[in-house]
Amino acid sequence: TNDQLAQWDRDNFFHPSTHLAQHARGDTPSRVIRTASGSHIEDRDGNRFLDAFAGLYCVNVGYGRQEIAEAIAAQARELAYYHAYVGHGTEASITLAKMILDRAPANMSKVYFGLGGSDANETNLKLVWYYNNIRGLPQKKRIISRWRGYHGSGLLTGSLTGLEAFHKKFDLPLSQVIHTEAPYYFRRANLEQSEAEFVAHCANALEALIEREGADSIAAFIGEPVLGTGGIVPPPAGYWKAIQSVLKKHDILLIADEVVTGFGRLGTMFGSTHYGIEPDLITIAKGLTSAYAPLSGSIVSDRVWKVLEQGTDENGPIGHGWTYSAHPIGAAAGIANLQLIDRLGLIRNASDVGTYLTRTMAEALADHPNVGEVRGEGMLCAVELVEDRNGRRFFDPGRKIGPQVVASMLAKDRVIARAMPQGDIIGFAPPFCLTRTEADQVVMATVAAIRAVIG
Ligand code: PLP
Repeated sequence: TNDQLAQWDRDNFFHPSTHLAQHARGDTPSRVIRTASGSHIEDRDGNRFLDAFAGLYCVNVGYGRQEIAEAIAAQARELAYYHAYVGHGTEASITLAKMILDRAPANMSKVYFGLGGSDANETNLKLVWYYNNIRGLPQKKRIISRWRGYHGSGLLTGSLTGLEAFHKKFDLPLSQVIHTEAPYYFRRANLEQSEAEFVAHCANALEALIEREGADSIAAFIGEPVLGTGGIVPPPAGYWKAIQSVLKKHDILLIADEVVTGFGRLGTMFGSTHYGIEPDLITIAKGLTSAYAPLSGSIVSDRVWKVLEQGTDENGPIGHGWTYSAHPIGAAAGIANLQLIDRLGLIRNASDVGTYLTRTMAEALADHPNVGEVRGEGMLCAVELVEDRNGRRFFDPGRKIGPQVVASMLAKDRVIARAMPQGDIIGFAPPFCLTRTEADQVVMATVAAIRAVIG
């Protein structure tokens, strides 16, 4: 029964991002999701919800895709697993690597497979360190990340993540990681700055940091093309160009974390091409399989590969591998997923309906005094709430305005949005198959919830 499951859940399981004290008191809700289709999920009580966050921005092709389920089943029947250690491959993983490189930005050379975004970022950092060791630059190891960036929650990737909750009480960030400013124009310290001035300010802050710490100690810069969990913030125009020119000048590699943006979320195949970024390494996960199976990847550029290649003869095989790297079931899901995206033109829909969603949301909330900004890119959208729009004064975080709005949307209209973890920001990242009618529902639920919570 549902009650029985809820009890077992509380007794036996603590979830990612669990509030441990609430769990101990038995206060955490237990919703048991049973099935899903398109943009909707359904719980065991038969309640249907419009999932405007595609799980955790990952079920990009939508739920219930039988083509992917069949591909997974066929792979499991034929060959559920064999390892991918050197000299071994499976048809699915070899095919998928080719499909990824066929779609990747220019000058990309090889793919290494992992399971999730965090481990793929770990791989990229180890590759960068290995690369500098081969170049005879063993001191050039530190990584620059951005405040509000999200890159995972391991020890090193949690250090890259620039959100307080992922550091405090874990003694993070580790000393190899340093942070610079986020390209968050709405939250700029100096309200007088134009966008162009703010971009110059971000690039100058980065360069000052590099000069202070010493370019010979810094290996790479990592960033999401659009800041995701830190607030869903598209960069101001010219940001990536300005950042790249600083990095090139100081011989610092660029890792584009495309875990959210890869495979279409911005309305183009990769965020890097969307913004003219020329990454040295790319991190992919979520949209690679639309979460039908866990799979991630590290894409290595020609430039980096040429150096890595020189290391292998001398040092033997690279000491880095997961049991489930290139898991055939994940790879089969990835192939079917990428084929479906092409066949149904889902990236075009992400662009069309995503643009419609952000525009309609902005129009509906244009006059609300507590809406500071509505922003978006492709099928990503955010509404930032403020106490006073004119003075850009933020709410006291203790009031938890964002979480209350999201809870109200869920309770009244059964629409799932996400309260982003830092600031009163309501985030939307629907499946690419969202229709305009569903987008309208999301907007109406948001407007109603903001009225109910703030007025
Ligand atoms: N990188 C980005 C940009 C992400 O948004 C996430 C997860 O949300 C990760 C990395 C970590 O991925 P995972 O949770 O699969 O480890």
